[in-house]
Amino acid sequence: MTIEARKIRLIMQLRRAGISDTEVLSALERIPREAFVPKSFLDQAYENKALPIGQGQTLSQPQVVAIMTQGLKVQKRQKVLEIGTGSGYQAAILSRLCRRVYTIERYRELLEVAEKRFIDLRLHNITTRLGDGWKGWPEQAPFDRIIVTAAPPSIPGKLVDQLGEGGLLVLPVGRSSHDQELLRITRHDDGSLSEESLGLVRFVPLVRGLPDDESGGAGTRAPIAAVNGGGR
Ligand code: SAH
Repeated sequence: MTIEARKIRLIMQLRRAGISDTEVLSALERIPREAFVPKSFLDQAYENKALPIGQGQTLSQPQVVAIMTQGLKVQKRQKVLEIGTGSGYQAAILSRLCRRVYTIERYRELLEVAEKRFIDLRLHNITTRLGDGWKGWPEQAPFDRIIVTAAPPSIPGKLVDQLGEGGLLVLPVGRSSHDQELLRITRHDDGSLSEESLGLVRFVPLVRGLPDDESGGAGTRAPIAAVNGGGR
């Protein structure tokens, strides 16, 4: 089966699963998922399943990407924050639906590969940052929409704080070894918050802080590489 035929089959599956937003479906059609999966999984790029992306992390199942994106109700002129860049696939989908995507990842290796994909695909409205997503991106707040693609045990207050009036936050909440609840938090114009469930999902945990080898910052990385003979 050709890639094009597999893609059409996947879009049909998503429609049957209740994805009806035509903007979301067309973004899923236009962004090549095969550009975001490891070479050894290329033949599975349009299967409706999660795939490994390195560092023990996963690229979410297309259906979950679709449900979260549809649930986020993104509009053309909006500014969106994503926590957990991973492969960059979710950010790429969002970039077709809004004005600008800000995305944060804690693994430098994943972020660098994702950045290269954005350049190759000419997705110029995505801004990336290496950092701890628990803190959000205060310098760029408020955001119209925030999406978290890893599961915290409870809702991170700083992310709610960075949501603008009328803003929506979509995130999985719960312990990592269990099913988690996909929640949508709304910040109403009067400042009050409400919450609704979009179903059960399974995500990798939203971890606190940066990996040990990143926390020293860029200044300490070069000497370590030199001691090891420069190989990385
Ligand atoms: N949106 C991604 C899915 C990535 S899986 C995609 O489309 O491929 C979740 C990602 O969240 C992983 O890459 C993981 O490293 C990252 N992550 C986990 N905790 C984090 C934190 N505190 N800050 C930033 N990123 C985090």
